[in-house]
Amino acid sequence: MLFLYFIIFGKPDGFSVLWTAMLPSFGLLLFEIRYGSSLSLLIFAALIFFFWTPVGQGLLQYDYSPTFKLRFPLLYLACFAVAFLLKKLREVAHNALRESRKNYEYLSNHDALTKLYNRFWLQTIIANPEKYDLRPAAVAILDIDNFKLINDSYGHPNGDIVIREIGETILKTLNGSGDLCRWGGDEFLVLFHTDIDADTVCRRVVDAVHAHCFLFNGQDMRTTLSIGLVTAPNGSTTDIEALIHRADVNLYQAKENGRNRMISSRLGE
Ligand code: GH3
Ligand code: MG
Repeated sequence: MLFLYFIIFGKPDGFSVLWTAMLPSFGLLLFEIRYGSSLSLLIFAALIFFFWTPVGQGLLQYDYSPTFKLRFPLLYLACFAVAFLLKKLREVAHNALRESRKNYEYLSNHDALTKLYNRFWLQTIIANPEKYDLRPAAVAILDIDNFKLINDSYGHPNGDIVIREIGETILKTLNGSGDLCRWGGDEFLVLFHTDIDADTVCRRVVDAVHAHCFLFNGQDMRTTLSIGLVTAPNGSTTDIEALIHRADVNLYQAKENGRNRMISSRLGE
């Protein structure tokens, strides 16, 4: 309404109509592209109506020169075109930034080899308990047995395949019962969700890995893993570090007892 007033009255000396040339920049800066453009084009239509049509010209209270009435709407249009282009460029840059932020977040939380969550992901959620409200029912640490031997016998690239396929096997066997991350070289860690019988799931994981067959240099190869599991005494706990520490102790015990097995206990027992 204010701009219409400026166009019609043009006070002082036809100057106020010049303010309308700022509308495209502000409209596109403040609002999204559709609303900003509509607003700018509405005022452009008003300029055309008042400057170029006999009815509109009859309503004008200021006597603009014919040259001004011809040229000013064109200047306005040029201002709109520049503002529109800048807005588009800003949008493209903003989208590119959002995309690269998403990629960066993915890369920082995922392991490149297995595509599972990585240790940094777990450390981040442990460090922000209020944000993630993490209360696992149990934690398991899983370590491939004699993995150095696999690397030595079949080569490092085949060792990578073993890590990746064992990761997939664990994930499939978990079937959504917990969050899996690659904890280190040949180690994985699972945070079990509440109301999950983690003992049974872990036993299934031991069997599934043992049953998985790799084919290297025309030879069948099987391997095993050991699991240290610890369950929370009251169904869940926020003390994840204590769970991890105890799961590690149980894993050590599983290795000592001959590997290809799970050792489980309750936290505090
Ligand atoms: P244990 O049964 O006691 O676990 O014996 P291990 O031979 O598996 O011993 P350990 O778990 O300590 O060995 C881990 C090995 O994993 C050592 C390292 O060379 C190898 N490793 C770590 N990261 C990678 C990787 O990304 N790819 C491959 N191929 N090997 C890795
Ligand atoms: Mg190992």
